[in-house]
Amino acid sequence: MLDACYAGFSIDPDKLLLMASSLLLAIITLLVLKKSKLSTKSKIGLIYGHLIFLFFPFVVLTTNATMCSFTCACTNSLLNLVSLALPTTLLISTVAGFLVIPGFYMFFSRKYEVENFHVVGFVEKHSTRMKIRMPKVYVIDNANPVAFSFRSFKSMIFLSAGLIDLLNKKEIEAVILHELGHLKRKASVLKLSFSLLKFFSPLSLLARFHHDSDEEEAYADKVAIRIQKTYRYLKSAKRKIDEFERIKFTLK
Ligand SMILES: [Zn+2]
Repeated sequence: MLDACYAGFSIDPDKLLLMASSLLLAIITLLVLKKSKLSTKSKIGLIYGHLIFLFFPFVVLTTNATMCSFTCACTNSLLNLVSLALPTTLLISTVAGFLVIPGFYMFFSRKYEVENFHVVGFVEKHSTRMKIRMPKVYVIDNANPVAFSFRSFKSMIFLSAGLIDLLNKKEIEAVILHELGHLKRKASVLKLSFSLLKFFSPLSLLARFHHDSDEEEAYADKVAIRIQKTYRYLKSAKRKIDEFERIKFTLK
């Protein structure tokens, strides 16, 4: 189409509909995220979904315009357009998710930074020894005993109030060392550029909440065992958490 080429790009009703439905889905995912009480895993899935639906129309628009002006052939095939726009959208959402998801924890979840002298000193001492950037430790408002860590623009360790309630001092230290082990591992992963995409993927963050790979878990455990010179505390921490989960399951 000659006039379309001259105009820069052409938008037909199909493309508009595609973009409008994507934006609508972005709004829906955001509303679901705001309204409902969801597990962390589902929340992260929704954030990722939201980003994909949000970016998709803009990528479609850009792809369409680029194809029109550079190849001078506006594609009328939606399939062609989508097959170009979708991988780009996934890439952009992935990078954005890498920034947004930790940010979500930083700003939107109820948490407070641990300023306890003992904990901060403990984290500082061991992160220095392990040659990693000192993470901030946060307590999140969750009755379940959970712990996880992030390393993006900032290093962060999250411990739930339930975990702190359940475990004693040495066991909490074992959990912190285990999380430092994860952060150390991530730091070395970052150095290997081929692992970059895996590292950047919010989906890998999603996986982090439930099961890390066995290898990664074993590595983090080994760090805690080596520093504490015993498996005792980590073992009893795991036993208590398992017991908690079992009782919760029985009560349901
Ligand atoms: Zn772990």
